[in-house]
Formats: sequence, C-alpha cells, structure tokens
Amino acid sequence: MSEVLTTPAVLILLGPPGAGKGTQARMLEEDFGLVQLSTGDLLRAAVAAGTEAGARAKAVMEAGGLVSDDIVLAILKERMTAPDVARGIILDGFPRTAAQAEALDGLLAESGQHVTAAISLEVDDAAMVGRVAGRLTCATCGEGYHDEFKRPAVAGTCDRCGGTAFKRRADDNAETVRERLVAYHAQTAPLISHYEGQGVLARVDAMGTIADIRAALSAIVQRVTA
Ligand SMILES: [Zn+2]
Repeated sequence: MSEVLTTPAVLILLGPPGAGKGTQARMLEEDFGLVQLSTGDLLRAAVAAGTEAGARAKAVMEAGGLVSDDIVLAILKERMTAPDVARGIILDGFPRTAAQAEALDGLLAESGQHVTAAISLEVDDAAMVGRVAGRLTCATCGEGYHDEFKRPAVAGTCDRCGGTAFKRRADDNAETVRERLVAYHAQTAPLISHYEGQGVLARVDAMGTIADIRAALSAIVQRVTA
C-alpha cells in the first residue's frame, strides 16, 4: 500500500466552460512537461490496461454502477507512480467535491505531499455570456464569427466563402451559458474554499488573450515548482 508517488507537482486547474482550460492545460504540458490527467481518460486507460483498480472499475461499470471515489483515487494513485509523470500532473475533472479534495489530500499525504497549486481561471460572467452567446459559424465553410467581436465585412455574407447561411450551436445561447456558469460556481465554490484555506489557491484572470493567460499561468507554475 505504500508505493511512493513519483509526482512532484500536483496542479488542479479550475475554470468554467469557455474559459480556455483545455488550451491552457496543453500549453502547460508543452512548457513544463506536465501531464494532464482527466478522470475519463484515467478510467479508460486503467480499464484497458487491466490494472487492479482498473479491474474494480470495470466490474462496477459492467454492473451499471457508478465508479466510486475510492476507485478513482486508487486509479490515480497507480497512474501517479508511472515514470512519465515525473515532472508533475494537472488534474482535470477531479476533485469535483470537497470530499474528493479531502480524499486526494489523504492520498498525497501518504507520500508526504500536498496539492502544489489549485489554479482558478476567473471569468467575468456577464462578459462570458456575451462572448459565448454571440458565436455563429458559416454553414458552408465553418468560418467562425461573433455578433459583436467579429462580424463579416458585408452583413450576412461569409468573408471566406461568400456563403449566406449561418448557424449557431443550440447550447451557445445566453440562458444556457448563464446556467452553466451558475452550476460551475455552485460546484466549485467548496473547492475554492478548500484550497484557499490551504494557501495554495491562485486566481488567474481568464478574460485576457490566450497569450496573457499563458504568461500568468507560467509565472505561477514556475513559482510553485521552483
Ligand atoms: Zn463561409
């Protein structure tokens, strides 16, 4: 039970849909050699590899059950002893609750570790609604536009292909975006408090450019992994 975790840096990236979490996580992987671990990928890989915890997860899923936090933690623990995560990991989708955060603390404590940093990508909700809700794409060539920030040069005509039909994703309307943000804040608030209490929470303004956000994240990761 006392395998030593080889992972020096354990980062948790928090951010609502549309905050650019996926893009930024990939950049952190490139810039720092970190490995992003999402719960879904972890589960699938462990089941496919037939690890001990993977076999437990498989049995639960085949019985139509939900994989418990214990099993997810066991899979995470197995994964964190692998050599490819020797620079550190970015957790995505776990923990989602304060109970899971505490369980993760317990797992890390077995190896004298703790969460290195929980980074919250902070958005302005109203601006976020406008940003996502105004999106539309050309139905012909797929070129992206925005009601406010990127209109075609000639109204109603695609700059790229001259097409005149545009489409919007059904879930890109203001009400849906607002609901997603409310759900995100409700779900994340306990995690923010948890990590703030440990003094490992870092907030990053996620309303800037991708390059600005990358620079802010890099500065934090450099500081906490130094
Ligand atoms: Zn077009």
